[in-house]
Amino acid sequence: MLPKNKSLLIISAPSGTGKTTVVRKLIQDKPNMVASVSYTTRSKRDNEIDGDDYRFVSIPVFEAMVAEHAFFEYAEVFGNFYGTPKKEVEASIKEGKTVILEIDWQGANQVRKTEPNCLTLFLIPPSKEELKKRLDKRGTDSAGEINLRFKEAINDIQHSINYDATFINKDLELTCDEIINFVKQYKGLKKPISEHELSIINSFKI
Ligand code: 5GP
Repeated sequence: MLPKNKSLLIISAPSGTGKTTVVRKLIQDKPNMVASVSYTTRSKRDNEIDGDDYRFVSIPVFEAMVAEHAFFEYAEVFGNFYGTPKKEVEASIKEGKTVILEIDWQGANQVRKTEPNCLTLFLIPPSKEELKKRLDKRGTDSAGEINLRFKEAINDIQHSINYDATFINKDLELTCDEIINFVKQYKGLKKPISEHELSIINSFKI
């Protein structure tokens, strides 16, 4: 188990919510925070850098890593495999860093079991319409991929209730400030879901 809480922060969100941008800003602003780089079997997007965004590997390589227990957690998302490398995460925690895992709800469920001290945060978009707009605007995925990701968001967002805190990602600065303040003051109590957050979550059920 981890030595203390706040060593491991999980950030999940439906695809297109902007969590990568939030995580980048957090690690830029807070030198004590680092982001884990996941392994994936997904194809690299044009704007991605191998070793920076992800470590892109083949399915056999990923399977070999699973067999070697090299992952802290792993899951299949949108038909591809994604996993958090155990060695790197443990090394960063040993150095006293707060490690951010940008992973889906399945991965969060696995980590909660092995590391009950982890802190889990869920980002939601300001509205269903805004999420669709952001997915379209990103311009990195095919129409089929966008539809799949939007459909999956309906399921993903229902898992937000299992997290320690939910944040609406409307404004980057504000979201990062809210996250930092929450982490700073966290003493084991969940952040209650606001009426506004609940109405956004419920709008995805329709
Ligand atoms: P994308 O393909 O858009 O980069 O990511 C798709 C989904 O996979 C996102 O929800 C992202 O958080 C999740 N993901 C990325 N890396 C990991 C990982 O290492 N483990 C798990 N469980 N999910 C991941």
